[in-house]
Amino acid sequence: MQIHEMYTTIQGEGPFVNRPTVFLRTQTCSVECSYCDVKETWPSRPELEKSIDEILLQTLKLCKQTGTNLLCLTGGTPEEVPGILELIEALQEKGLIVSLEASGAISLKSFWHVNSIVMDIKGPSAGKKAFDATKTVIKDNLDLMVSRRAGNYKYDMLKCVVATTDDLDFYLEVLDDYAFLPVGFSPMFTPKNESSVMRIMAELLFTPDRIITDIPKKWLPYREKLKKFTNRQLNLQIHKMIWPDLTAHI
Ligand code: SF4
Repeated sequence: MQIHEMYTTIQGEGPFVNRPTVFLRTQTCSVECSYCDVKETWPSRPELEKSIDEILLQTLKLCKQTGTNLLCLTGGTPEEVPGILELIEALQEKGLIVSLEASGAISLKSFWHVNSIVMDIKGPSAGKKAFDATKTVIKDNLDLMVSRRAGNYKYDMLKCVVATTDDLDFYLEVLDDYAFLPVGFSPMFTPKNESSVMRIMAELLFTPDRIITDIPKKWLPYREKLKKFTNRQLNLQIHKMIWPDLTAHI
């Protein structure tokens, strides 16, 4: 199977934030977001491939070493990897809680049985290719997330990367009928803008009474608009704050 790397670290965002987690990062991605921070996973690297048995063995070893049963399946885009459903089934059969980080640009119809799905909604800042791919499947994927919630999958979340107000406009429009679902807003992480967008989003999401004077005026109307996401959280990508100097295995 097309596996890029396996390691343990703190889960930096999403429904299992702050929990010790084994990460299984797959190779390949056809989505090609402009802000991708793991571009090295895009091409296939046959020399890194492993069998399902090898992955299971190594995963169980990492889980035991760490004392966790949480596994984050990330990428790349795991949904594109041949054999991924078989792997998920095998991992869950071993008692692991599998959280799939899905690109949201590919149909999730076959992934109903995964313990947890964290699904990206690619906004305009993701770039045209990712944005267009998302738009073709988003309604079906969101309906699936609604059905899963009714079916007692309580650890799902939508993930919305925010770099500009255009992103927020898109999320408000496309999630209008889905605003009750848990949503994590992730300020786009670049050394240049992280602290400013992070602060802006924190002010917009959490401070209904505070008079804000030092954030750009065009963001202010979103404080009222974002209130409709009653199940919202700020994704701070804690792992990147703890280890800003590391580029791998965080
Ligand atoms: S879907 Fe994920 S791995 Fe693929 S380009 Fe986007 S951020 Fe990178």
